[in-house]
Amino acid sequence: MYDRTYQAGELVGVLTTEPLGRVLDYRAPEGGCGDGDFVEVPLGPRRVLGVVWGRGRGDWDIAKVRAVGRVLEAPPMRAELRAFLGKAADYTLTPLPQMLRLATRAPGLMEGAALRRVYRLGGAVPNQLTDARHRVVEALRAFAGAPMTLGELAEEAGCGTSVIKGLVKLGVVVEEEAPRDLPFPPLDPKGGPELQGDQVAAADALVAAVAAGEYATTLLKGVTGSGKTEVYLEAVAECLRAGRQALVLLPEIALTAEFLKRVEARFGARPAEWHSGVTMTERRRVWKMVATGGASVVVGARSALFLPYQRLGLIVVDEEHDTSYKQEEGVLYNARDMAVLRASIVGCPVVLASATPSLETWANVEAGKYGRLDLSARFGAAEMPEVRAIDMRAEKLPADRWVSGTLAAEVAARVAKGEQAMLFLNRRGYAPVTLCRACGHQVGCDQCDARMVEHRFQKRLVCHQCGATKPVPVACPACGVEGRMAAVGPGVERLAEEVAARFPDARVAVLSSDLFGSARALKAQIEAIAGGEADIIIGTQIVAKGHNFPLLTLVGVIDADLGLQGSDLRAAERTFQLMRQVAGRAGRMEGRKGVALLQTHQPEHPVIRAILGGDEEAFWKAEAAERRAAGVPPYGRMAGIILSSPDVAQVFDFAGELARRDAPLRAVGAQVYGPAPAPIARVRGRHRVRLLVKAEKGVALQAALADWVGQMKLPANLRLAVDIDPQSFL
Ligand SMILES: [Zn+2]
Ligand SMILES: [Zn+2]
Repeated sequence: MYDRTYQAGELVGVLTTEPLGRVLDYRAPEGGCGDGDFVEVPLGPRRVLGVVWGRGRGDWDIAKVRAVGRVLEAPPMRAELRAFLGKAADYTLTPLPQMLRLATRAPGLMEGAALRRVYRLGGAVPNQLTDARHRVVEALRAFAGAPMTLGELAEEAGCGTSVIKGLVKLGVVVEEEAPRDLPFPPLDPKGGPELQGDQVAAADALVAAVAAGEYATTLLKGVTGSGKTEVYLEAVAECLRAGRQALVLLPEIALTAEFLKRVEARFGARPAEWHSGVTMTERRRVWKMVATGGASVVVGARSALFLPYQRLGLIVVDEEHDTSYKQEEGVLYNARDMAVLRASIVGCPVVLASATPSLETWANVEAGKYGRLDLSARFGAAEMPEVRAIDMRAEKLPADRWVSGTLAAEVAARVAKGEQAMLFLNRRGYAPVTLCRACGHQVGCDQCDARMVEHRFQKRLVCHQCGATKPVPVACPACGVEGRMAAVGPGVERLAEEVAARFPDARVAVLSSDLFGSARALKAQIEAIAGGEADIIIGTQIVAKGHNFPLLTLVGVIDADLGLQGSDLRAAERTFQLMRQVAGRAGRMEGRKGVALLQTHQPEHPVIRAILGGDEEAFWKAEAAERRAAGVPPYGRMAGIILSSPDVAQVFDFAGELARRDAPLRAVGAQVYGPAPAPIARVRGRHRVRLLVKAEKGVALQAALADWVGQMKLPANLRLAVDIDPQSFL
């Protein structure tokens, strides 16, 4: 794809975000237009946003081709981003207009530059000014002539707005319109912390990769506290020195505040921030500044990959193993893999940072496709904690208690010393099952085939699939017997109840994503805990994600076996990663070795033994050997097809017919399994059926899938989603 300009009246192709299935022909407007120009085009009675996408095809009735309305003021979309959207669409089998929507998610793109009224010093020479007027002039001088709004200037000068208006009449101060979206303050790459040990060589290698300005992917591996962030921020610094832009992806919004502080401490100013919690005004500013070079560093969630960088020089994917990089709704893509794709098109390095890399990344390193840098020593902190098992078969706990005597004694010892202990249970709510003791009925969601989870803080049963809630029934919905409904099994809320009863004098804090109305409230709670305002922390997997609690010396895992249940091919990998991340929270306190205790019913299980043994490479090799033997990712390819419909017979019939017409798949040696009910067979009243396609690595799977699915026309109420490289099997 190369950049061309088109004369007025020439045929151009325009891609819009409307679900049309093709690029439409238009005539170039008065003054012409070029590839990548953002344009407004008529579509039926409406005017919609589009991007010029090459020469028109000319296969449309020429008399009906309309003209482009106007070219918008935004800088054109670069060829690199257009190529990325095209390849990402091909890879994920997503219609291109949906991909374009990801890249134009900023409000006000069709409006002109938003203006605001500002004030600056004019040419008239003031004489005999009153005190108030004098302060206005001084305020403007102090800010080196930078324009200020009326409110800002009045506050700075400590006067009323009429004083300023009076000066405007005299020509001492000038009132004018200026763009609202201001550039971000420049970040200063000078300085930086003194790096130590293997940080130095790692930083040098990444800086060299940025300076080379070529595509390369590097795994930066190091345990929590080994100084990964300091190391990759040096690569960001090199990017700034070279006048290029850097993108740092984080898996979770709650992590951004702490991270932004670190960036500000290193570079003297805050970078641009991009995620769902950012205001619309700020999103527009970030989008425009990224496009015009007024933002040099962006810190964001996965959708920040689709911003219109002008000179992208580095992408960092922090916590690259995190499953939240996979978007599971709408466009199904893995931001880690798309980051590698975009970098390969732009020609810039990617850093994948993790303490517990995904097996995909580990395998790419083994295969020589990715480089690897290791940070072994813990930087300015204690060693990796000691990990031990508590054999629950020997603990003889009553059925409604979950903290073993052994674990409780260790918690008590920490609390007595003024240290913190954390209890980890990856289950939200009070109890996962509400059961009738009279007939055995379990309360399920009316819309989904899922059990409802009691949330005692909300006093409701909640469906974790669709979010539906209902009160806890007094009488059993099945047999009608009253007063026999019972909560079965633990969630974090119930664990908190047990802990509060057992340690009545300890301050207990619960961290679970659903207990906080906003990311800000969650952040405040995390900061309070880090500051020592809790003795015992109870949390779901939110605690595994890199938050730093300096006083924490003990981690207790309530049910280490939880993730090993189920048939997900990544169950072992996920459990291994999660247990190591959670364990890694302990022992960051200087001079004190942390301990992690795993409550398990199967201490001899290979995954539990691998976690206890701490031999990571041995675990990866064993896991890789098993996947290779089974021909599953990363040594084979998979795609999930989820079909859903309100009509159960229709969806099974359709899926069965699709599975029979598998000639396009067989042509590339791929096999289709199913149809089978999806593990959660009904969500929001829609019945879900799953087909799984397996192929060898290196097969052109997407083309075969497109041919295969394209054979059958979808009935109106049936939905089909293709999930390339599925991460979850729900
Ligand atoms: Zn009952
Ligand atoms: Zn539901």
